[in-house]
Amino acid sequence: MEELRNNLLYSPKNGYTGLSDQQKADMNDYCKRYTAFLDACKTEREATTWAVETAEANGFQAMVPGKAIKPGDKVYLNNRGKSIMLAVIGSESLANGANICAAHVDSPRMDIKPNPLYEDSEIAYLKTHYYGGIKKYQWATIALALHGVVYRKDGSVITVSIGEEESDPVLYVSDLLPHLAADQMQKTAAKAIEAEQMNVIMGSEPLTGEGADMVKLHIMKLLNEKYGMIEEDFLSAELTMVPAGKCREVGLDRSLLGAYGHDDRVCAYAEIEPLLTMGTPKHTAVCILADKEEIGSVGVSGMLSHAFEYFMEMLCDAQGVKLSHCFANSFCLSADVTNAFDPNFPEVSDRRNNAKVNYGVAIMKYTGSRGKGGSSDAAAEAMGHVRTTLDNAGVIWQIGTLGKVDQGGGGTVAAYMANRNIVTVDAGVPVVSMHAPMEVVSKLDCYMTMLACKAIYEA
Ligand code: MN
Ligand code: MN
Repeated sequence: MEELRNNLLYSPKNGYTGLSDQQKADMNDYCKRYTAFLDACKTEREATTWAVETAEANGFQAMVPGKAIKPGDKVYLNNRGKSIMLAVIGSESLANGANICAAHVDSPRMDIKPNPLYEDSEIAYLKTHYYGGIKKYQWATIALALHGVVYRKDGSVITVSIGEEESDPVLYVSDLLPHLAADQMQKTAAKAIEAEQMNVIMGSEPLTGEGADMVKLHIMKLLNEKYGMIEEDFLSAELTMVPAGKCREVGLDRSLLGAYGHDDRVCAYAEIEPLLTMGTPKHTAVCILADKEEIGSVGVSGMLSHAFEYFMEMLCDAQGVKLSHCFANSFCLSADVTNAFDPNFPEVSDRRNNAKVNYGVAIMKYTGSRGKGGSSDAAAEAMGHVRTTLDNAGVIWQIGTLGKVDQGGGGTVAAYMANRNIVTVDAGVPVVSMHAPMEVVSKLDCYMTMLACKAIYEA
């Protein structure tokens, strides 16, 4: 019976079962490099800047129309500083397709409104508009940092970062004290803190002088001294509030990582690291770090943008290959996070099909909601390709689905890749408390996701 059971039944195991000491050391080294990336990149812009610099240091060159390419060449397209696509040219023609990994580098946050600065009761605030799906109450009473760029009247662009250095001040959204929260506590969680209450405290010391705006004026004076900004410059700025601070190890055994924005920089890093030092692959390996996934993949830097066709067409033109022919033979791993089973909230998951922490990279046949709505729903053949590829490469992986049917749902860029006639499968790191200011992932799952991307590139 034991033999029959072993032969016939599927029994997923914790990834630490059989993880060698060498693999464990490699995993820890990998996670240190990932942590450094996370700490340096909290916005899609910062991730793109980092990727351009790191790619160039590893021999990548900007792809331009008409540029000749040969196997082993490393090229990239910086999409307006907000997203990036990179490729290592394969030994086979692009007519035989590319192996693509697609992740996103934007994360939920609070964007600053175009006309944000005001003073109320001698406190200066910035008004915000949240970006992506958040539980608003989680973003009050935590340390926040201001990141972004300001396009000044004279055409110069300045980069802003306040709240990340030890010596920096941090910023803050207030909540009500429990003593006076009798009415608030009767509200639903969705309404406890409302969007128009997510106003960020910028300061409280008035300048000496006459007027009802002396605190606001003080803040503007400080911004002017540091960045040469005037209030009107907010109109052409892209500023955002993100949780301040660095990624931390979580748990006495240090097996987990807690940070803002694992979704989806944990997959973005898993994709780009193996590409940077890759030799000549059989099929051209393509890595996408997209923007705007959290608001529907729209816009010029989102995955629905024609920028991807522009990049791939330049590569195909260089080989005299039709883009549509290349797409038809390509494969894409849509590398995005999924939910990790949380024993504190077992009621939202189907245990048999939910990804678990430390069980490896999660492969998802479909995402979507209410009857797979909005999902690309990979075919058995595509799932089989991933299964065989990962098994042959010794990658620890598991199956994931985003919670119980009809409990909710979500999407990734998978459907937009599949719509291009590219066979696509979702895969990524299971996350605890996804979209919270501090999300948690397991080191083992991070490492296995990198190995999965590497295996897909080399397939
Ligand atoms: Mn995501
Ligand atoms: Mn997300």
